[in-house]
Formats: sequence, structure tokens, C-alpha cells
Amino acid sequence: MKINVLYLGRLDCKKFHLIECRDEQTDILSPVSAILIQHPDLGNILYDTGNSPLYHKAYSEEMLRTYPVGEFISIESALSEYGLSVDDIDMIILSHLHFDHAGGLCYFKGTKAIKNIIVSETELKNAYWKVMTNQGGAYIKELFDIKGAVYKTIAQDTDLAPDLQLFIQNSHTPGVLGLVLSTQTKGNIIVTSDTVYTRENFNSELPPGGKINKTKKEFYDNLKLIQEKSKTYNAELLFGHDYEQIVEWAGAKEIF
Ligand SMILES: [Zn+2]
Repeated sequence: MKINVLYLGRLDCKKFHLIECRDEQTDILSPVSAILIQHPDLGNILYDTGNSPLYHKAYSEEMLRTYPVGEFISIESALSEYGLSVDDIDMIILSHLHFDHAGGLCYFKGTKAIKNIIVSETELKNAYWKVMTNQGGAYIKELFDIKGAVYKTIAQDTDLAPDLQLFIQNSHTPGVLGLVLSTQTKGNIIVTSDTVYTRENFNSELPPGGKINKTKKEFYDNLKLIQEKSKTYNAELLFGHDYEQIVEWAGAKEIF
């Protein structure tokens, strides 16, 4: 299994949206990313797809104001760096259906990957319920309700392969898929996605500020799950929106 972290640009937002803090004026760079997993048995897997190229039209004014797109790199061009096109992807795993994770699905129209999208069942139900009741927020229907899309939902933690496990988290949204990746050179890696945005959230046990989480309890319950999993697997953590880490991992050579 070969793993590459793909850097897909940034959202330039206020720090308190990611990490609770008193000062609501401090800025933070929030990277957008995907993970390319080239697996000997499962083929080319993409975990997340980044922002939509039509962000300036598709995203609501509130979202663009809260999470301004500071830099946009399409999943298509990020894949081309590895000599791959959207047609080479066999499976897409979406951590959740927010715009900065599902926004690149549009590039996969007509490909085999669009018929093979893994997402948690609670996430898919929640996303549709939110957008159809006019409380979409970071869910934007046209980004995930794509022509030809076939979602394969999972309702419990699932091993896609012995070295690639999916686990369901209930924080940030009700069904964020995390990954446990077993590598030969870097040991086990746990990918948290947006349940833990940054290393600072994890190390200082700080939830996000702002309105994204309904309660802090969800954050702390999920943090406990991640703390326990990281001990069980003796794993390194890859966080959802940690600029320093994403830039470092994206710049590093592939992980085997
Ligand atoms: Zn996100």
C-alpha cells in the first residue's frame, strides 16, 4: 500500500472556528486535503476530494465569509502530479459530506469511482436531512447529489482490508469516517478528519469554538475514542485541518 497526502489549498478562517480561544480575531490557515491510497488489492482509493471548483457560486455567503477559500487546488490537478486521472480512481471514501471534503466529486462524473463512494449511513442521512430542511450549513446538496453517484453506506466500523480500516465517529457531524492505516515504514496511522482539526485540539484537549459542534460533549467523547485508539494501535495521528502537518506530509515522499 502506497499513501500520499494531497494538499488541495486552504480555507483562511478565524482560529476560534477550529480551536476554542478567547481572541476571535486571530487568523489560522486551514488546509484542505485528500489522501491517495494505492492498494494492492483494492486499487486506487481516494479519501476525500477537496473543494468544489465552483466554490464562489455554490457556497453560501455565510460559508464564504466564515471559511474563505484562500487557495484552491483541484483534486484533478493534484492527482495529475502522480500521473493519475480521475478515471484511474476505483473507490472514493468520503470522511463526511461537507463542502471541503465532497466538493471535488464533480470531477468524477462518468467515472467508475462515482459508482463506488463509501460514506457512513448516518452521515448520508444527516446530509440529506440538513439540506432538505434548509439548514445545510457546510452541506451543499449539489456537491454530493451528483448525477450517477452511487453511495455504499456503512453502519459500523469496517475493515476494507487488513491494513485499511474505517471507523465511525460521532463528532463534528454524526458520522465522520476515520481511517486506521497499517504501513510498513511509518507503523499505524489514524486519520481523524474533522473530529480533531489540529494537533493543538488534541494535545491541549480543546474543542472548536464557534457553532460547528452542537455540544462539547461530542468532541470530548470522540477525543477519548481517538486517545484510546491511538494507544491500542500505537498510531501516529493525521488531523483534519492542521496546516503544518498537512504541508509536511504532502511534501514528504509517499508512505509505504
Ligand atoms: Zn473540513
